[in-house]
Amino acid sequence: MIWFRRDLRLGDHPALLAARGEADEVLGLFVLDDALWGPSGPNRRAFLAAALRDLSERMNGRLVVVHGDPVTEVPRVARAVQATGVHVSADYGPYGAQRDERIAKALETVDVPFVRTGSPYAVAPGRVTKDDGTPFKVFTPFSKRWIAHGWRAPATTPRSVSWASFDGRTHAVPEVDPDAALPAATEAAAKKRWKQFLDSSDGGVQHYATLRNDLAGDRTSRMSPYLKWGLVHPRTLLADLPSGQGAHTYRNELCWREFYADVLWHAPSSARSNWNDSYDAMRWDTGRDADARFAAWAAGRTGYPVIDAAMRQLLAEGWMHNRARMLVASFLVKDLHVDWRRGARHFMQHLVDGDLASNQHGWQWTAGSGTDASPFFRVFNPVGQGRKFDQDGDYVRRYVPELRAVAGASVHEPWTLPGGVPPGYPEPIVDHAEERQDALERYQAMKG
Ligand code: FAD
Repeated sequence: MIWFRRDLRLGDHPALLAARGEADEVLGLFVLDDALWGPSGPNRRAFLAAALRDLSERMNGRLVVVHGDPVTEVPRVARAVQATGVHVSADYGPYGAQRDERIAKALETVDVPFVRTGSPYAVAPGRVTKDDGTPFKVFTPFSKRWIAHGWRAPATTPRSVSWASFDGRTHAVPEVDPDAALPAATEAAAKKRWKQFLDSSDGGVQHYATLRNDLAGDRTSRMSPYLKWGLVHPRTLLADLPSGQGAHTYRNELCWREFYADVLWHAPSSARSNWNDSYDAMRWDTGRDADARFAAWAAGRTGYPVIDAAMRQLLAEGWMHNRARMLVASFLVKDLHVDWRRGARHFMQHLVDGDLASNQHGWQWTAGSGTDASPFFRVFNPVGQGRKFDQDGDYVRRYVPELRAVAGASVHEPWTLPGGVPPGYPEPIVDHAEERQDALERYQAMKG
C-alpha cells in the first residue's frame, strides 16, 4: 500500500517504487484529514482536490480516498486489504511527524511495517549538521554542507503499476471553488511549467540571477505550488539545472526551502513561537486600531501602492512574488506593528503554495526573530523598494486598477500627483518615516 501525502505524483517517487517492489498489486490511498484540510484555505484545498483527481485518473480511477483521522483510517484500510506494508515519503513537519509515529505504532500491533522512503526534500531534514552534530543556524554554511552532502539522481518512473481496488468505505474527492485563479494542478502542468522556465530565452533560469527580483517581469519559476504538493520533486529540478549563474542562484533558492524545513524539524515550536525567544518581549499593537490597519493591509488598501499591489496579487492569484512577500511582511510588522503570526496566518489562508516551514520562517526572517534573520532595524521603505523593484510601475498598475491611469514610476507616490491621490485609492494609512522610528524604539525597548 502507498499512502500519498505531499507526494502527489507517479514520477521520481522512491516510496512508490518501494511499494511496487514488495507486491504485485499496490493500493494507493489518500486520507482527507480535517486537521490539515481545515486550516488550508480554499486555494490550497482546490489545488489539492484537482491534484488528487489528476492522480486518480492516471491510476485508472483507483486512488482510494477516505475521510477521517489517519491514525484510525490508515490501519483500517491496511487491515482490510491485508497490506504487507504501508509505504510513505517521510513527513518532517511538526504535525505529520508525530502522526506518523502513532500510525507506525498502531500498524506494529497488526504486524504491518510502516516504511518511510524519501521525503519532499533533496536532503532530508536532520541530515545536514555541523561537525559536532548540532544543527546549522545560519544559511550559508548550511548550504555549503548541503551541496557537499549531495542528493540521489531522480528515481525511474514505473512503466505501469497494478493498482489494487478497495471494497470498503471511501469518500469522493471534494469539489472546491478556489478564491483565486490557480495554475493547473497536474503532474504534466508542473513539467510543462518547469520546461518553459528552463527553455525561456528572455527570462527563465538563464537570467534568473539578474531578473528574479523584477516584480513586473514575473520571471521566477512559479514551481512553489508543485513543490508544496509534491507534483514534482526538487531532485528532479536539481538534476535538470544547467550550469551558469542563473542555475546556481536557483539551486540556492531551493536550498532555502530545505534549510527552513531543517530549522522547523529541529525546532517544531518555531511554527508558532519566536525562534529567537528574546523577541517574546517585543510590543505588538492589538485592539480596534490595529485590527483596522490589519484589515487595510489584507485588502490591499494601505495607500502604499507596492504593498497594495502585492496584497491584491495574493487575493487574485493565491500567490505572491518573493520580493513582494518580504515587503508586505516588513510593512505589517514594522510599519503597522502587528505580530508576524497574524500575517503568517493570513498568508496560510490564501497561498496556494502555503508551506509551514517556508512561510513561518519567511515571516520570522522579516520580523527579525528567525534564524539568520534580517536585522530588525533594517526597515524596508515601501516607496524606495517600489521604485527599485517595479521601476516603471507596471506591477502596481497590473493589480491596482485605481492607479492605472498614472504613468511611470510616479505611481509609487500617488499623494505627490498634481491632482492628488486618484479617486477610489486611499491616502496612506500611516506615515512610513514615523512608523519606522516607532519600530526602532520598540526594538530598543525589547533589547532592554
Ligand atoms: P522561485 O524564485 O522560482 O524559486 C524556486 C523555488 O525555491 C521556490 O518554488 C521555493 O520552493 C524555493 N524558494 C525560493 N525562495 C525561497 C525562500 N525565501 N524560502 C524558501 N524557499 C524558497 N514559499 C513557499 O513555498 N511557501 C510559503 O508559504 C512561503 N511563504 C513565504 C512567506 C514570506 C513572508 C516570505 C518572505 C517568503 C515565503 N516563501 C514561501 C518563499 C518564497 O517567497 C516562495 O517560495 C517563492 O516566492 C515561490 O515562487 P517561485 O516558485 O516562483 O520561486
